[in-house]
Amino acid sequence: MSSIQQELVNIVGEDYASDRREELFTYSKDLGTSQPLWPEYVVAPKTTDELQAVVRLANETKTPIVPLGGGLTLAGLALPQKGGIIIDLKRMDKILEVNEQGRYIVVEAGISHGKITSYLKKNHPNLMHSEPGAPPAATVGGNLAIHGQGDLAHPYGFNTDMVNGLEVVLPTGDIARFGSCAVGSGWYTMHPLPDIGLFLGWNGATGIITKVSLKLYPCKKFRENNMFVVENEEFVPDVLFEISHLGMAEDLIATSSEIPPMMNRLHYISIINTGDSEEELEFKRHMTFDVQLAKYIRSGVGGIVSLYDERTRPQVSKSADWKKGGGFEYVGAIVPVSFYPECYRRGSEISGRHFIPYTVLGRVIGSCHSMMFSWSYAFNRADDATVKHARDALHETDELVMEINGTIWKPAIFGQKLMLERMDPGALRLMKEVKKILDPNGIMNPGNWEVD
Ligand SMILES: Cc1cc2nc3c(=O)[nH]c(=O)nc-3n(C[C@H](O)[C@H](O)[C@H](O)COP(=O)(O)OP(=O)(O)OC[C@H]3O[C@@H](n4cnc5c(N)ncnc54)[C@H](O)[C@@H]3O)c2cc1C
Repeated sequence: MSSIQQELVNIVGEDYASDRREELFTYSKDLGTSQPLWPEYVVAPKTTDELQAVVRLANETKTPIVPLGGGLTLAGLALPQKGGIIIDLKRMDKILEVNEQGRYIVVEAGISHGKITSYLKKNHPNLMHSEPGAPPAATVGGNLAIHGQGDLAHPYGFNTDMVNGLEVVLPTGDIARFGSCAVGSGWYTMHPLPDIGLFLGWNGATGIITKVSLKLYPCKKFRENNMFVVENEEFVPDVLFEISHLGMAEDLIATSSEIPPMMNRLHYISIINTGDSEEELEFKRHMTFDVQLAKYIRSGVGGIVSLYDERTRPQVSKSADWKKGGGFEYVGAIVPVSFYPECYRRGSEISGRHFIPYTVLGRVIGSCHSMMFSWSYAFNRADDATVKHARDALHETDELVMEINGTIWKPAIFGQKLMLERMDPGALRLMKEVKKILDPNGIMNPGNWEVD
């Protein structure tokens, strides 16, 4: 046994540290098109003390570490680019507090979104958090580390806009808290303290998030998916602007895909309305279709497809896989809503060139302040040619995002490089200095957001 492995066992016990190849195998892969990359060790701490001890060991021995939540980004962001230790955070999954009146929940960052959803449903049915469309195993820490967004994005923005407080283990093993929890015992706001925005969106390259306070929002009794369809993509931004003017929808997504055929070349706009009574839903339906969208219906440009109860919340992951073999990866971009038509047209061309049925989706963020637009590329894991097509399509899409002046969301290493090449030199210098101060030995998820 190597000395690092022995130290890891001393910290977490022998069941939770391994350097055995059959266990490392699982951690060498990701669900997307990335090639396998092997860690030398995997460790799963249960407490912040254990985590701090692991990070201190890594810092002293200059061993790279990669924090891992659900491992679901698809973009290879939790694969060990330079070997070292994968720190699997899924055992750090406690719910520490729910404050009904203050509408927040404090959790350990390795908790899955699925666990929070089911806990709230059972114990606090009037409250909800913003759940990403990812599989339920996605963790809070991993999602914040990539600036995720969930099904409350339309009213409230990115999930990272919903953070009330953070605890982070720094690359030295020291601990730091931010927000009202840094001053007293309450985890109810990040304001009005000086902004230290050093950890969200960094892919774990500046520290490991250990505790988070997330804002909760009212959860209504009934939920209804009101689908509107238009044939001409040019109308999509206007329709979204009209609906967002009402400020009533909980989630607002436009989507189009080649499969199933009923969606091909059509744009379905999913408007999630919620209410505590039939009257409330009826009012929202009336305002949406009879007032705000009436002109499109009258002129024959668009129509209502269906109104149906959607008791369970929408899950993108249920409809994402269109190819034998089960592989898919997507490029997400944060772009203005007005970019929808061009993103759709250029994306379906890329898909066509690579023989992949096109699948695009745009989720409104805020009051149409921006949109997360995604281009998904399916592949068959057992067929290298289709994997190559998907990878090439992803790279072309990253380049497209740069060409149209978008920003790539959760970029893989390829996309990170494109973004860094174009980054404002002042910002780039600052990122480099921040990284050097926080992580002098360069051990934190190296390769990610790496400024040379
Ligand atoms: C079908 C499907 C649908 C998806 N839909 C959405 C969606 O609607 N919205 C959305 O936001 N995402 C979506 N995703 C992307 C992704 O799955 C989620 O964002 C997910 O929340 C990432 O969390 P994770 O725990 O899997 O992170 P991981 O993949 O484990 O980690 C992500 C990054 O964060 C780092 N990291 C992990 N934990 C921590 C921590 N505690 N502290 C610091 N750094 C850390 C990792 O090193 C890595 O760089 C989707 C993915 C799939 C497969």
